[in-house]
Amino acid sequence: MTSFLKILSLFLITGLVVFIAAYIYNGPRKTTSVQTSAGKEDNTGQPIKNSEITLPILMYHYIRNFQDPNDKIGTDLSVSPDNFNQQMAYLAKQGWQTVSLEDLANYFESGKTINPKSVIITFDDGYADAYQNALPLLEKYKFKATFFIITGKVEKPGYLSWSQIAELAKAGMEIGSHSVSHLDLSKLDTDKARVEIYNSKITLEEKLNLKITAFCYPSGAFDDETIQLVKNAGYQTAVTTVNSKEQTKENIYKLKRIRVAGSESIASFEKSILLE
Ligand SMILES: [Zn+2]
Repeated sequence: MTSFLKILSLFLITGLVVFIAAYIYNGPRKTTSVQTSAGKEDNTGQPIKNSEITLPILMYHYIRNFQDPNDKIGTDLSVSPDNFNQQMAYLAKQGWQTVSLEDLANYFESGKTINPKSVIITFDDGYADAYQNALPLLEKYKFKATFFIITGKVEKPGYLSWSQIAELAKAGMEIGSHSVSHLDLSKLDTDKARVEIYNSKITLEEKLNLKITAFCYPSGAFDDETIQLVKNAGYQTAVTTVNSKEQTKENIYKLKRIRVAGSESIASFEKSILLE
């Protein structure tokens, strides 16, 4: 062997030894790792689909001054404008942001990011005080909210009119369906439940010229068939009255909410927002 070849083989052997030592020390090089945080891409360039989030969805009904010992349910469903103002002020001061149910659907379906300090504010039934009392306070804090409308009740005494609902939408509020006549959908036969779920969506879309993607089960009642009908009708999300703020993609048609009771103090409101 010439001395040139001896030197060359020495180089190659040394190089091989160093490579093997480095391999043993570091292990095989990992392929691009899959990132799991929102808005990121996996190693094929596809957006990561988010599967869960801690996000309080607040449930309100009336925003009005109402106390009647003979109407305990009505009293408990009524948060006074003063209390609602305090609650919104607290959220604003603590740096909470409001998002819509459509934002939540996009978070789960396309990996859109959501600020971790986000809350969804919902109002059930479409009472007239949503326009008179809730809207001005929401606008004061630049918050958005979701209003679930019972289409068969629109224009009835105590309920929103079509022009008021249109103004809510124009102000950036999300409008959702709360069925046609607020019946227990889990107890209706399939055809009747379908009419309640489909027709309310069609009516809202025609009257408001909007796409309606959020549904709210009347009285929180649903079964597997109700969920299938809601899905087939083209809704992207549905909310229940189950008490929690842990939301999952799997439960996108069973989203949980936190009830804000009329008797609730600001301290208890803060607790329900913050506690696990
Ligand atoms: Zn309701």
